[in-house]
Amino acid sequence: MPVFKVKCPHCGHEMLYSSKTKFVKGKRKVCVYCGKSFEVSSAIIKVVKD
Ligand SMILES: [Zn+2]
Repeated sequence: MPVFKVKCPHCGHEMLYSSKTKFVKGKRKVCVYCGKSFEVSSAIIKVVKD
């Protein structure tokens, strides 16, 4: 299961996002820090595991 490190564009916090596939285009995640949603594919800063 792929794991990505993503950075929230709203508050700047980094967190892990795990996905069933490595194709995350169009997927959205709710930030655990500020509660706002963002697009995963544009927030990825690093692939932790693929
Ligand atoms: Zn945030």
